[in-house]
Amino acid sequence: MPRSDISPVWHPFTQHALFPHAVEIARGEGAYLVTGEGRRILDAISSWWVVTHGHCHPQIIAAIRAQAERLDQVIFAGFTHQPAEDLARGLIAIAPPGLAHVFYSDSGSTSVEVAVKMALGYWRNIGAPRSRLLVLEHGYHGDTVGGMSLGARGIYNAPYEPLLFDVSTLPFPHAGKEQATLDALEVACGAREGKPAALLAEPLILGAGGMLTYAPPVLREMKQICEANDVLFIADEVMTGWGRTGTLFACEQAGITPDILCLAKGLTGGSMPLAATLCTAPIFEAHLSKDRARTFFHSSSFTANPIACAAALANLKVWEDEPVRANLARIAAAHEAHLAGFRGDERFSAVRRSGTIAALDLKVTDSGYLAEVGPRLYEFFIAQDLLIRPLGNTIYLMPPYCVSDDDLARLYGAIEEAAGLVAG
Ligand SMILES: *Cc1c(COP(=O)(O)O)cnc(C)c1O
Repeated sequence: MPRSDISPVWHPFTQHALFPHAVEIARGEGAYLVTGEGRRILDAISSWWVVTHGHCHPQIIAAIRAQAERLDQVIFAGFTHQPAEDLARGLIAIAPPGLAHVFYSDSGSTSVEVAVKMALGYWRNIGAPRSRLLVLEHGYHGDTVGGMSLGARGIYNAPYEPLLFDVSTLPFPHAGKEQATLDALEVACGAREGKPAALLAEPLILGAGGMLTYAPPVLREMKQICEANDVLFIADEVMTGWGRTGTLFACEQAGITPDILCLAKGLTGGSMPLAATLCTAPIFEAHLSKDRARTFFHSSSFTANPIACAAALANLKVWEDEPVRANLARIAAAHEAHLAGFRGDERFSAVRRSGTIAALDLKVTDSGYLAEVGPRLYEFFIAQDLLIRPLGNTIYLMPPYCVSDDDLARLYGAIEEAAGLVAG
């Protein structure tokens, strides 16, 4: 029998021996999470990067309610429904030009797995099988075995290392060292043996890898090198999509269209689990055949769940009807004004920003994800009802777009104070 005073719930990325008590949230209101006792916590990380317009956006909730009364779920092989059809057309209309088909799944990790399977299926079906994948150093693409294989190796996945497949890792394009990345990409693409199937990368900012940024021209050049060498480019916009980097999709800033685009997190405004993998016509057409062996063999039980699709459609409408882009610009400007104060502060380093995401590193002797200061920072912020979850000594803000200027000022005030936690 489980002890009745201890919850049987096993939480993600949580060391229960150190953090036995989770905070129970009863309601979500805009940028705030509210407990049953009425404690109001400012959600400065959009509940793990998913909530874009704020919690319980009325239009999105109304769409969920209406769809739930019409059709809750239907098998998606051999059947379709209006929300999935409308959403696919809507996504193609707003995505970088040239993407023509939409495959649904239910999480960012699966959207990446689907992308990789599409890429390998493409090469096999055109009669030139390839299976080597190129990725960026410090990348993160999810926690499934495939996702872990594609991402950076570290404490997150050390126990599973024996199961992970090999990929070729390009050095991260740190400022001033971009050429090394591009050169490594050229070399990898040119390899006579084991020509890569695809390059998979998070455009402009690597999230879980530590909010590491690189400039649009580098992204553009990476895509051009892939194109010139006939290597597919897969953009993992699971985190960067839906306005985070200041534009709807990060790829827009480089003026590129990836061959395959992965979307999840903010696709439903963060209200429901749904993912989409978009691809160009040649990739779909390589699977098009009277030969059933060429079928794209992927499915999950809830592929294109109608309620989730309705939520995503409502999200598209919010982007159309509301001044979302003006809000992105407002948040970017507020970040910039606050960050200016930290640029000359010796207690911090690497002050950076991509659109609505701001990050800075607290100077410590032990840096990285397990930096001793990480949990202490988290505790310090949450004690003030601020949900900020540092990646080691990297403090970042990724608020929902309804966050107010006063909320942002409060967050930066707390970050300033947090510097006092490390003995100077
Ligand atoms: C979060 C994330 C994923 C995984 O998404 P899940 O929905 O958590 O499976 C994949 N790629 C990137 C870039 C992410 O930030």
